[in-house]
Amino acid sequence: MIEFKNVSLVYPNGTQGLKNINLKINDGEFVVVVGLSGAGKSTLIRSMNRLVTPTDGELFIDDENILAYNSRNLRKLRTEVGMIFQNYNLVKRSTVMKNVISGRLGYTGTLKSLLGIFSKEELSLAYQSLERVNIAEKVYQRADQLSGGQQQRVAIARVLTQQPKVVLADEPVASLDPPTSHQVMTYLRKINKEDNITTVVNLHFIDMAMEYADRIIGMRAGEVVFDGPASEVSEST
Ligand code: ADP
Ligand code: ADP
Repeated sequence: MIEFKNVSLVYPNGTQGLKNINLKINDGEFVVVVGLSGAGKSTLIRSMNRLVTPTDGELFIDDENILAYNSRNLRKLRTEVGMIFQNYNLVKRSTVMKNVISGRLGYTGTLKSLLGIFSKEELSLAYQSLERVNIAEKVYQRADQLSGGQQQRVAIARVLTQQPKVVLADEPVASLDPPTSHQVMTYLRKINKEDNITTVVNLHFIDMAMEYADRIIGMRAGEVVFDGPASEVSEST
């Protein structure tokens, strides 16, 4: 379970990214965060794997306050809490396989993995992850030879290879056309269901949020202004 207790974040220039957030997200939930640009969605998501660090409050993941973590703990946190970005964040000149298996680096941290020597089990896990998002036929292509939708599927496979408890997706479909966006959302929803991975996704479009989410969190000016089941959204907005 993820729990925010009175979490605030003020950026160094004085901008308040989050204002007194109190939230609980249960294991296996699929939560979509919506709101206008600048509402704090990205700050909320990124605080859950400490890509940004709240300046006040407590943020628990499975009863550990991640705001108290040192750099060694952060490495483990970022393996257990995987991240997907708008612009895929793949190493463009590397193969799909190298990109996907790099999801294991932080986890093993051994000399072997740093040298890129992986065990049969790791290679097979990476390949299976690619199969689950239907992109295994591109395994030895360079990442920059794939379309945007294909690159985002590779990014999902990379996160799956980490075997995470939680997946955070920061505007994962903002660079994709509508059919490809639906495809990526369908894969995120599928892995959430199959592996019971708690998933938190930022989206611009409320229609898409209502189609995929169990629960929708609405943000404005750093605050949560709506929190409820997707089915309640049309009545209250
Ligand atoms: P959203 O994801 O909803 O667009 P963000 O979380 O990116 O919103 O931003 C929330 C607020 O924090 C905005 O006012 C934004 O300008 C500000 N902000 C975001 N990142 C930084 C930063 N690194 N330094 C200063 N202000 C920032
Ligand atoms: P999808 O919708 O399955 O993500 P697209 O229909 O956009 O893929 O792309 C079709 C094919 O064109 C893909 O197999 C991909 O390899 C190739 N392709 C798309 N964009 C690029 C690009 N920028 N550079 C090289 N090849 C590309």
